[in-house]
Amino acid sequence: MFINGNWITDGIGKIVVKNPSNGETVGTVPKVGIEQVEEAIEAASKAFKTWSKLPAIERSNYLYRIAALMTEQKEELARTGTLEMGKAIADMRAEVQQAIEYVQWYAEEARRVYGETIPTDAPNKRVQVLKQPIGVVGAITPWNFPVSMITRKISPAIAAGCTVVLKPASQSPLSAKLIFEIFEQAGLPAGVVNLVAGNSNDISATLLNSKNVKKLSFTGSTEVGKMLMAQGAETVKKLSLELGGHAPFIVFEDADIDLAVDGLIAGKFSCAGQVCVAMNRLYVHQSVVDEFAEKLVEKTKQLKIGDGLDPETNVGPLVSEKGVEKSEKHVQDAIGKGAELLIGGKRPDKSKYTGSFFEPTVLKGVNDSMIISYEETFGPVAPIIAFETEEDVLKKANNTEYGLAAYFYTNNLSRVHRVSEELEYGIIGVNDTLPITVAVPFGGIKESGNGKEGGHHGIREYLVEKMISTRIEL
Ligand code: NAP
Repeated sequence: MFINGNWITDGIGKIVVKNPSNGETVGTVPKVGIEQVEEAIEAASKAFKTWSKLPAIERSNYLYRIAALMTEQKEELARTGTLEMGKAIADMRAEVQQAIEYVQWYAEEARRVYGETIPTDAPNKRVQVLKQPIGVVGAITPWNFPVSMITRKISPAIAAGCTVVLKPASQSPLSAKLIFEIFEQAGLPAGVVNLVAGNSNDISATLLNSKNVKKLSFTGSTEVGKMLMAQGAETVKKLSLELGGHAPFIVFEDADIDLAVDGLIAGKFSCAGQVCVAMNRLYVHQSVVDEFAEKLVEKTKQLKIGDGLDPETNVGPLVSEKGVEKSEKHVQDAIGKGAELLIGGKRPDKSKYTGSFFEPTVLKGVNDSMIISYEETFGPVAPIIAFETEEDVLKKANNTEYGLAAYFYTNNLSRVHRVSEELEYGIIGVNDTLPITVAVPFGGIKESGNGKEGGHHGIREYLVEKMISTRIEL
């Protein structure tokens, strides 16, 4: 753990990190106690006084140094991520590249935090809106993007002038440790960034109850997000919540079916389906559903399951046995209620695959009564639901408490606008299942959370606006 510029090796126990491909231990990190979390908050509060006053260009230069060091250590970052959470190395390399781009983007944004001057009706008044860093930030990240979720939060926070106490997921603390070693190598002043892992309840409660922590940025499940929101009420904590999703993927009758199949393969099976914006419900127009399903099965057959470090692997293991059980349960429930299994649907041969693997799966004939149609699977299962009309599919697509991402395929320009406007989601991909880049605002609506990460929008989450009205003599 890294607190006030020092590495702490003594905690109140250890987190043992296991490779989900084979169950082997890949490393351990100490668990912090509540007192150490308080020390980290204290260090961040002290560092905030000077860090927030540095000229933006100096904060920007630190971020450029961090990006350069991450680029030098790209392969080690990718291998560490794959070892601890299983993702195929090609996907992990792409994630590290994006993580670096977040750092570079906010190195640039640091210098563009502009205020406002507002003309008033009173000739003797001048009104200004000043944007300032909010203060100490608590950040909690998940394991499915063990590198980029960290830089997507920390880069805008420190660019804005905030200081941070970060808690990574217990399944992926080794990637976090590597990133913090890079922060140290970049020479960030003590206390600007602090790393604590351990009991998530204790750490989040300490962050939320502290009056010195002004904001919490959380990425994870909707269930935990709601709990944190309730706990944060006591100190009226500003919260950014990037929560779960249940993305519809709609293929209209006028769509390019091959393009849609390729888009689905790219968006659904990377990270073994453990992606918040992955497609959960495949609504395909009844006139093209057979063609789509056939082509999807053909492409799914070509996916190679295996150890994430094997360069041939397309689909690595799920992060844990619990993840496999959930995919299994969703598939069994759907089959039990009449869905047709087209491919996969089970664990691969245990004698060849010792880790927590589940075969890429396609189901057809899925309907609204099946668990998979309303609960996030977080696994490599693609359920196809046939539909008849645009009106009907929009109703179905929006019939969920989630509002993170939605996708649709069509070649009709009017439909592009009509459907985009009707879908109740924060991210919409039109003929595009990979819409996320560092330049765009990422975030959900409804119970998928609030706040944005990425783009020029991301830095706003770490700023407060102060209105200054000055009466002058004319
Ligand atoms: P999770 O259980 O909510 O865990 C996420 C983070 O919250 C981890 O650091 C975890 O720590 C911590 N946590 C767990 N229980 C907590 C508690 N009671 N109090 C405070 N912190 C707690 O989610 P997950 O299963 O790891 O991740 C998958 C979920 O994240 C999915 O729903 C997915 O859609 C969502 N997600 C959303 C986005 C997005 O940007 N919208 C991105 C990625 C993932 P421990 O590991 O130590 O328990």
